Amino acid sequence: MTTLGTASAAPGEIDTGRLAVGETRDGSQFGLPVAVVNGDEDGDTLYVQAVSDGDELNGLGVVQRVLPQLRPEELSGTVLVVGVVNYHAFQVAEHRNPIDDTKMNRAYPGNESGTSSERIAAATFEAATRADLVLDLHQGSTSRMLNEARVRCGPRHRLHGECLELAKVFGCGHVLDQKGPDGQLARAAPDEGIPTIDPELGGCVGWDEESIQYGVEGVFNVLRYYGFLDGDVEIESQTRATGFDRYGAPSGGLVSFQKDLGDRVEPGEVLFEVTDVFGRLKAEVTADKAGIFWRSRRLPQVATGEYVCSVGTDVDEY
Ligand SMILES: [Zn+2]
Repeated sequence: MTTLGTASAAPGEIDTGRLAVGETRDGSQFGLPVAVVNGDEDGDTLYVQAVSDGDELNGLGVVQRVLPQLRPEELSGTVLVVGVVNYHAFQVAEHRNPIDDTKMNRAYPGNESGTSSERIAAATFEAATRADLVLDLHQGSTSRMLNEARVRCGPRHRLHGECLELAKVFGCGHVLDQKGPDGQLARAAPDEGIPTIDPELGGCVGWDEESIQYGVEGVFNVLRYYGFLDGDVEIESQTRATGFDRYGAPSGGLVSFQKDLGDRVEPGEVLFEVTDVFGRLKAEVTADKAGIFWRSRRLPQVATGEYVCSVGTDVDEY
């Protein structure tokens, strides 16, 4: 019998339930929606979570589409799923947990008796660290971003190679291989010996079907490659960036981009222009380094210094 919260599945069974974390402001208990898929045959455990950031719904779209396709009689091993991690932020469609104004993915490994976000992090980290592989499904928030997978443990970590392999198997096409900030699940779980990636499934408001499809295929690639399911996986080389340059607005106005997501960028090439309300050119911003146009803001209006776009740099194929 494998149990996660109130979900309990014997071999050959699937169950859903709630992982209790505490109480809401009106004193009622709340729990994260969880699923356990327990295969007929023994094997490894895969942990998948979504909506760590409350406005990032593509991962939930992946969970919704993958779970009905999983048959315990075809599965070797176990899949543990937390469908919505950032419970409070999800309710109000915000990025950060409104109870403590914290970003969930800075709170790992969490603290059972800490803040609201730390308690959720602790409860989900306990589940994640029962697994052999971890997928933490994110997206570039509501910005526009290409589909990629992030390896966050850093190149000196003993699990770096295994995390890179997992990212390649997931197979979004692009990988950002750069040590992440403290508190990310994709940093904390490798410290416990568990290969972990943070797939970033595009960026949108609501659901983007193309990015969700990348995620669904990625999960099935992982299930097949690591022996949870029968079948072959075509492993394709990934375009990897190990640097990430952020560009801000030198003046206020309206931004128009000269590059599309995924485009190659050469040093000195124009990334974007800022024009005033009446269409007059105020500024042109060029790339400092070669790379790939990776992410950009969605709304055109910017104030001086405001974030505009990012270029993945130090690019290679692996
Ligand atoms: Zn995120």
